[in-house]
Amino acid sequence: MNIKKLPHIVIVGAGFGGMEVARRLKNAPVRITLIDRHNYHLFQPLLYQIAIAGLVPSQIAYPLRTIFRDQKNITFQMGEVTEIDLESCYVKMDGSVIGYDHLILAVGGQTNFFGMNSIEENGFQLKDVENAVKTRNHLLKLFEQANREVDAEKRRAMLTFVVVGAGPTGVETAGALGELITHVMAKDYPHMDLDEVRVLLLEAGSTVMPAYPDELRKATADLLRKKHVEIKLNAKLTKYDGERVILADGGQIQTQTLIWTAGVKASGITARLGVSLAGSGRVRTDAYLRVPAHPEVFVIGDAAYVENENGQPLPMLATVAQQQAKFTAENIRRLLKAKELEPFRYKDPGLLATIGRNAAVARIWGLSFSGFIAWMIWVVLHIYRLIGFRNRILVLINWAWDYFFYENQVRLITKE
Ligand SMILES: Cc1cc2nc3c(=O)[nH]c(=O)nc-3n(C[C@H](O)[C@H](O)[C@H](O)COP(=O)(O)OP(=O)(O)OC[C@H]3O[C@@H](n4cnc5c(N)ncnc54)[C@H](O)[C@@H]3O)c2cc1C
Repeated sequence: MNIKKLPHIVIVGAGFGGMEVARRLKNAPVRITLIDRHNYHLFQPLLYQIAIAGLVPSQIAYPLRTIFRDQKNITFQMGEVTEIDLESCYVKMDGSVIGYDHLILAVGGQTNFFGMNSIEENGFQLKDVENAVKTRNHLLKLFEQANREVDAEKRRAMLTFVVVGAGPTGVETAGALGELITHVMAKDYPHMDLDEVRVLLLEAGSTVMPAYPDELRKATADLLRKKHVEIKLNAKLTKYDGERVILADGGQIQTQTLIWTAGVKASGITARLGVSLAGSGRVRTDAYLRVPAHPEVFVIGDAAYVENENGQPLPMLATVAQQQAKFTAENIRRLLKAKELEPFRYKDPGLLATIGRNAAVARIWGLSFSGFIAWMIWVVLHIYRLIGFRNRILVLINWAWDYFFYENQVRLITKE
């Protein structure tokens, strides 16, 4: 068979959506070029564990060339796609031009600061490995500095940690930070007065975890308080200069740490496509996840705007990206056989978030769980979904160690 004559599928992005669609096209009669700016697939839901010194990056990221080593119909290219010409069917990557018969855009999202430059410049974010490591180093360095600071006011500002956004990422980060301080730092800095340490979770809305049912919101708030996290609702930020958070109601908080988890928007390349975009820069697709005027282009995952049967936009979640990927691979196989395509329907697998050791909330099969059972479900699912046997074992060992000995493993301050 002349491989060059096979339809060429270009997939941009090897996150949850891109990697899944590429895997599911294994053995399909196509040539696949998979492009990503990184040479690894990143398990983003555990990024906060890097920031709070629980895991190292190599435990939640896996080399793409290893993942696709045995897949004969795929070529991986590491590079940044900077231009996509939908009329002439090519993408530009670091100066190379790559033509396609079908394009699958799985470029994911980026942090949305809603135009608040001061927060973007001075705050921390959890969207990639570099920023998570930067956050870890910053947190650990602050403890070193606070430990020798004699001015009580300065010390309190160093020991005040603000997390913004009470969705799952903010809740997970604040809970884990609370635990790091009370269980681990308390042992490393025995002379530090822990009463001076504050972890604040700020939320512009009127509740934590707005997408969750009432009983789980209440359980989340209770669990967070047990981890010594102070929750401030209806707290809208306007500015952060690296020293002080300014709130819309005029309130101020002295802090050297602001971790922003309050917004995501589609990756920048979607804005340059010249197609119809919904809020947060997501590409509006038809029922088959295609760009309406370009049926040869599919958009999946965080970059796609798709509504459920009630007209609500699907959330930016790995579960959505993976289901869309599976679906797109099946539709491409149908296309190859000149069969009719199926419209996409999302099957909601439930909700799950952890708030630290022994504490999580879950909504599965119509039932709500909180506390230890939910946490066990969270641990099992996250270990199962991590790629690579070695990674699974290492993460499990780290967590077990942490669990039994209250000891986060990765407390090294490194050069970035
Ligand atoms: C801290 C955090 C916690 C989360 N927790 C959960 C959770 O508990 N459960 C859950 O379901 N979801 C969670 N999510 C959301 C989930 O990670 C995303 O919804 C999911 O990653 C989206 O998959 P995707 O394939 O659309 O994009 P991504 O997984 O983000 O992948 C996009 C890929 O495209 C690449 N890329 C982007 N632009 C370009 C370009 N121009 N050129 C080349 N490559 C490019 C990127 O490098 C990346 O590898 C979390 C996200 C974060 C950040």
